[in-house]
Amino acid sequence: MDFVRSIHRFTVLPTLSGELAPLQKLAYNLWWTWEPEGVELFKRLDIDLWQQTRHNPVEMLGILQQTTLEKLVADEGFMSQLQRVSEKFRDYMGARTWFDRSCNGGKSLIAAYFSMEFGLHESLPTYSGGLGILAGDHLKSASDLGIPLVGIGLLYRQGYFRQYLNIEGWQQELYPENDFYNLPLRLERDESGEPVAVVLDMAGRTVTAHIWSVQVGRVPLYLLDTNLEGNAPEDREITAQLYGGDQEMRIRQEILLGVGGIRALHQLGITPNVCHMNEGHAAFLALERTRLLMEEHGLSFAEAMEAVRAGNIFTTHTPVDAGIDHFPPDLLERYLGRLYRSLGISREEFLGLGRINPRNLNETFCMAVLALKLANHANGVSQLHGEISRRMWKNLWPELPDEHIPITSVTNGVHTKTWLSNEMAGLLTRYLGSRWREDSTDPVLWKRVANIPDSELWRTHERCRERLVLFARRRLKDHLRQVGATAKEIAAAEEVLDPEALTIGFARRFATYKRGTLLFRDLARLERILGSSDRPVQIIFAGKAHPHDVEGKELIREIFQHSIGGRFRGKIVFIEDYDMAVARHLVQGVDVWLNTPRRPLEASGTSGMKVAFNGGLNMSVLDGWWPEGYRGNNGWAIGNGEVYDDVDYQNEVESRAIYDLLEKEIVPLFYDRGTDDIPRGWLSCIKASLQTLCPLFSTERMVQEYTQLCYLPAYGQWEKLSGDRLALAVDLTRWKGEMHRGWSQVRVTRLDAGATAEVPLGAAIPVTAEVSLGDILPDQVTVDLYCGVLDSRGNIVGGELLPLSHGGAVSDGLHRFAGKIEPHFCGRHGFMVRVMPRHPKIGPVYEQGLLAWG
Ligand SMILES: *Cc1c(COP(=O)(O)O)cnc(C)c1O
Repeated sequence: MDFVRSIHRFTVLPTLSGELAPLQKLAYNLWWTWEPEGVELFKRLDIDLWQQTRHNPVEMLGILQQTTLEKLVADEGFMSQLQRVSEKFRDYMGARTWFDRSCNGGKSLIAAYFSMEFGLHESLPTYSGGLGILAGDHLKSASDLGIPLVGIGLLYRQGYFRQYLNIEGWQQELYPENDFYNLPLRLERDESGEPVAVVLDMAGRTVTAHIWSVQVGRVPLYLLDTNLEGNAPEDREITAQLYGGDQEMRIRQEILLGVGGIRALHQLGITPNVCHMNEGHAAFLALERTRLLMEEHGLSFAEAMEAVRAGNIFTTHTPVDAGIDHFPPDLLERYLGRLYRSLGISREEFLGLGRINPRNLNETFCMAVLALKLANHANGVSQLHGEISRRMWKNLWPELPDEHIPITSVTNGVHTKTWLSNEMAGLLTRYLGSRWREDSTDPVLWKRVANIPDSELWRTHERCRERLVLFARRRLKDHLRQVGATAKEIAAAEEVLDPEALTIGFARRFATYKRGTLLFRDLARLERILGSSDRPVQIIFAGKAHPHDVEGKELIREIFQHSIGGRFRGKIVFIEDYDMAVARHLVQGVDVWLNTPRRPLEASGTSGMKVAFNGGLNMSVLDGWWPEGYRGNNGWAIGNGEVYDDVDYQNEVESRAIYDLLEKEIVPLFYDRGTDDIPRGWLSCIKASLQTLCPLFSTERMVQEYTQLCYLPAYGQWEKLSGDRLALAVDLTRWKGEMHRGWSQVRVTRLDAGATAEVPLGAAIPVTAEVSLGDILPDQVTVDLYCGVLDSRGNIVGGELLPLSHGGAVSDGLHRFAGKIEPHFCGRHGFMVRVMPRHPKIGPVYEQGLLAWG
């Protein structure tokens, strides 16, 4: 007898009626997670249950006994709090937003944000680290700002693993199953009540996915789930774990995210005009978008792609090639053969989309290349990372100078209200007014931090540090119980850490490039720093290593061993199972956040931003966001941004720089107290940090930038190309073909500058160029002078473009263009002429093969 199959399943959902119904409504919108009163409300239901459920109101409401619920209804204090929070929620959802006020031109914008992970709250474990947290913060700020945006991701049965350490400090992984019915999720159903089914092809098998939605304020997030009975066992596993499987699992997940994501939106009646790929994982979406458009309008691949590309945005997060997915041709053939054939392109054309040089058959298919080729806008996540990315991908644009490589940067940020402690939020409201909650990007507002009395700022921060210490002790006791420690050992955990000592935090993924053990290179020196009896220092660590990353796990074990060994006992603590709740305690309570990536491997980093908002200070290598944030008086830089080839030497130099900073600057400043025991110098550093960093490093600023610099321009371009049944996209494709045919005749034949070898600064130099255009007409091109200072190798660096205007035909097909140069700097200058095609409705068009330099 097949026992398993005969089980009938049903689900019991918590139903709260009458006066408690608003509670359920609040529980199903993650808005409460960033509204302190919302958090307080749910905590008040039952503090023990709150802890047990990992702060999960939906699960709590399912467990609470009828009698408890009845008591709540009778509790006037509770009921009026519920009403207050409900009103706040209603006001939030109905408020006029930044988008309403500032983005008139984007009325019909519908942006879809695709990401493999979303870190929204600890109770929803669909994230592993920075990428996911950023995606979560992006959605929250999009909600605050009123951006018409939806999120798309996968719903993992087990999410990312939970970490605990064995008695040796070796990381163990636990994969608890999520019960979707105990999470703030709703299954999307059609009118007849049936779950909306997304059907797609996986290597010849048909896979069905269901769509769950999470409401993030105003923004819905749709998550796909393939763990359905009709699917083949290997396809049910697609949404089992985040970053859990092999390469084949990865391609299935990426197909589900990209292709399945577009289909899911289609099924739901949502037609995004802008699609944002958060990392290359989502790049297959462009293929499905194109296919849909081809099908709908009977277009060719090239025509549909012109429009689709205009509406795609790609954000890269990876400064090293090893961090990017590459797939071999046979795997692609197996999984995407049908898709590319339905696009009417050949196997080589398809594989070429993932290669820098499409004709190089040895190149593997790279998801970042695919994304770069199929998106109109690409960006890195800090200024430095933008630069690194332009260098990394410049071979995709072999005809362009480095600074013209079309990869910009939008620096990451954090969702202020998610990461700020209640204490700090209250303090800011008292001295800045409540406007920082609606508009945190105004630097003038943050100047008012100067008005906060030192004693009050200090007391506020000390309270958060104390809470962190109590939290660390509690977690340490939990760990000790787990590994079977004695009652005496458990009791001793009450003594670790000092609530008043200078507290350094270090928490992140334990990838080796982040160098979690740099501090331990000179143990004797570290012991002197931590062990001082009048100026004690302590360090709290947390972080997970990827389950396959043995080196990362070694680092964790090393730190754990130091934390239990004699010399650092009680001064170093490792908190297990780093998640958003641990992160909140850490970033709110530490005095100094230590960040030691090997430059330039940290694309941005965001933890230090969370710390800055909470009145902590950053001590960081000048990598990622920190070169933009560091001002000399608002934290510390480890080194000057040098990069040495010898990694061990670099580690030595930078660990010494850390010890020096601690001994000579950080510890003395922290313990330099007046008679009132307040560290005035330290506080002035905190104030400088708040004033300079808060207006810049929020996702509020970041999402505004994405909206103004990416979403709205992409939307405008998409509208232009796709209007009138894609007339312009069709024309552009035809026109590009014409240009390609004629371009071989385009040449700069002569260039004259009316200047001798030396000219005085401020003088204008007339320039004329003769350009042979063949059959192409002069108004079909744009001719510019590219001019700037020469470096020692004779290359123009940071040059500017000066337009030349058509000055008539010299002979048949030969034209004169003229303009003038006005150098702004002294020194050796050089110039070149650049000819580019110009479409009458679109303007200058850059495309590989359609550019001439002379
Ligand atoms: C903020 C955060 C991160 C990101 O860390 P960075 O290394 O600074 O990018 C990772 N995990 C959690 C839980 C976080 O809260």
